[in-house]
Amino acid sequence: MQDVIIVGSGFAGSVLAERFSNTEKKVLVLEKRNHIGGNGYEETLHDIRYHKYGPHIFHTNSKRVKDYVEQFTSWYFYEHRVLGKIDGECVPIPFNFKSIELLFYKEKAKLIQTKLLEHYEWNSKVSILDLKNSEDEEIREFGEYVFEKVFLHYTAKQWNTDISNVDISVINRVPVVVGYDDRYFSDTYQMMPRYGYNELFEHLLSNKNITVKTNVNAIDVISFQNGKIFYEGKEFTGILIYTGAVDELFSYEFGPLPYRSLDLKFEYLPQNYYQACSVLNYPNEEDFTRITEFKYLSQESFKTGTVILKEYPKTYDYRNESSIPYYAIFNEKNC
Ligand SMILES: Cc1cc2nc3c(=O)[nH]c(=O)nc-3n(C[C@H](O)[C@H](O)[C@H](O)COP(=O)(O)OP(=O)(O)OC[C@H]3O[C@@H](n4cnc5c(N)ncnc54)[C@H](O)[C@@H]3O)c2cc1C
Repeated sequence: MQDVIIVGSGFAGSVLAERFSNTEKKVLVLEKRNHIGGNGYEETLHDIRYHKYGPHIFHTNSKRVKDYVEQFTSWYFYEHRVLGKIDGECVPIPFNFKSIELLFYKEKAKLIQTKLLEHYEWNSKVSILDLKNSEDEEIREFGEYVFEKVFLHYTAKQWNTDISNVDISVINRVPVVVGYDDRYFSDTYQMMPRYGYNELFEHLLSNKNITVKTNVNAIDVISFQNGKIFYEGKEFTGILIYTGAVDELFSYEFGPLPYRSLDLKFEYLPQNYYQACSVLNYPNEEDFTRITEFKYLSQESFKTGTVILKEYPKTYDYRNESSIPYYAIFNEKNC
């Protein structure tokens, strides 16, 4: 008999399974996909690794978390850098002093940088909304430029709504940097698994106390009655942990929660590299939001050929089994 049933084998489910199994608890992991690893899962195309559910970069400020994951696979130092195509130029995102120098003529760039330094500390990360509402005319004008070129159309594509409907916390995820720090994440620890995420998940779930069942939708085998849990028709008195979408757990009895989904279009190209960086954002004209080139993430530069991914945001439909709830829509009503 199992002590713990965990629904989902992504980061949450796999780590919890490992933790419980380590205390001699018998754990059953139920996974509805045909593989473990949740959104961190990787596949290969012509022997080049790619992330099946979009690019995943490991970053944390917690030494404890870093030390923990290092027990299960080997990692290499990787700081994620993103470029954005703006007015035909590839410039660093988060927008920083280098981006200013690439998009403005020399004197204008100097003026904006000086103004920013008069108002903000060196290397500080400032919300685009603060810049846009600045009392200083020069900063305000600069803020409006960045807002339009980097945020406005990208947000409309990503969330299919006007930017005024998007939660401020979502807009502030990408600040403007008063300096040259062009890292996409500012966490202390940033790294990638040397042999891919699959090995991490396999090792997390390798304890003899863990049984994994793939191709099992927990909703079909778990039920609740009079405050009791039933697994395959028998009462289960252990711990049940569910890491899937909470509205699905209740069979949408209280209505579906809103998410955005993605159409992920992968392509293998028989050339060494396609672009100059791992991720190139397309905030404006194109229908897709970004192109990822996975060779930069997997350190497979020695291999011939390359795999790229174009991401097209789309509506999520909870009635369609193949539709994936990638991004929760944050706003006051939904949180
Ligand atoms: C495009 C994209 C890029 C991202 N990039 C990053 C990044 O660079 N860095 C980062 O830290 N985070 C990133 N994230 C966020 C990251 O994917 C999540 O934080 C992470 O996957 C959460 O792990 P999880 O275990 O909670 O969920 P998931 O990885 O989604 O795993 C949940 C698992 O539960 C299974 N499941 C659900 N319901 C059931 C059911 N009823 N029965 C059985 N199984 C079920 C699912 O099939 C899935 O395998 C990104 C997200 C997206 C969408």
